[in-house]
Amino acid sequence: MNGTFNLLGMTLAQLQELCVNEGFPRFTAKQLCDWLYKKRVDSIDAMTNLSKVQRARLNEIATIGREHPVRCQVSKDGTKKYLFPVLDGHFIEAVFIPDDGRATLCVSCQVGCKMGCRFCVTGKQGFHGNLSAGDILNQLFSIPEFEQLTNVVFMGMGEPMDNLDAILAATQVLTADWGLGWSPKRITVSTVGVIPGLKRFLAESPCHLAVSLHNPVPQERMAMMPVQKAFPLNQVLALLREYDWSGQRRLSFEYTMFRGENDDLAHAQKLVDMLKGLDCRVNLIRFHESPEAPFKTSLPSVIADFQNYLNRHGVICTLRASRGQDIDAACGLLAGKE
Ligand code: SF4
Repeated sequence: MNGTFNLLGMTLAQLQELCVNEGFPRFTAKQLCDWLYKKRVDSIDAMTNLSKVQRARLNEIATIGREHPVRCQVSKDGTKKYLFPVLDGHFIEAVFIPDDGRATLCVSCQVGCKMGCRFCVTGKQGFHGNLSAGDILNQLFSIPEFEQLTNVVFMGMGEPMDNLDAILAATQVLTADWGLGWSPKRITVSTVGVIPGLKRFLAESPCHLAVSLHNPVPQERMAMMPVQKAFPLNQVLALLREYDWSGQRRLSFEYTMFRGENDDLAHAQKLVDMLKGLDCRVNLIRFHESPEAPFKTSLPSVIADFQNYLNRHGVICTLRASRGQDIDAACGLLAGKE
């Protein structure tokens, strides 16, 4: 019989509590972590150093929570987009991006999104629910490329700061010695700037942060990103300036280039002024046109001028390579449609 909750995604503290409640010895929690996160078994019966009685009880109350992807689309550039079933009848996507010596998985954290950014296909779907820490980790654990992964970015469907408990639990599993033991430097969490979540993230997580900026002019940003109304960029930047970025943790800003909207040198200059003195970098992203979004891609020469302007004026600026465009795996195109 299948149990009612998933073990995948539970932290050591949560598993210890479970063991105490079930009358299991406390060290069983550590054994569970080993099976879940080091050996990555997909059945409770495979946990052979647990007693038969313990396994039977766990099978009554829980399952591992592993779900295989139901579809994989492969781009001509090697990028792969996986579709996973979650929450009654919904689907989410994760994108595997191999790149010279690196292999990054871009994971989703919500089904749809509440933020409604006008250039984003996910935002158009509305919001259908939060993923659990287990749903998030399953995107890594259940793809054949798990062993190759060097990095994870929380830049798929959803706004991480709007589902922060699950993000913090998932990143704890990824980084703790009882979990996967990854360096936090391998993990980047993105946000459009939801301040309450961001404050907590800065205090409680050591992972890298990427802020989706996209436009330095408040009125223009508000027209693209409704979150600007509730959490204006100047308040987000004030919060980021209070934080000490001199350690290992990195701050970056994502800036998607929209033709005639935010790609001229006047915007570049405002961006430079806005970021002055902040230890950060800017990642420019080529916009991928979609019939569902009323924006066009900037011309390559315009993007190059913008990038050069930033670099000349002391802001480290890179252009992110476009990946997986032919399978709709690029930024802002994840729809989770079966
Ligand atoms: Fe949500 Fe990110 Fe899309 Fe904005 S860009 S609607 S925050 S998924």
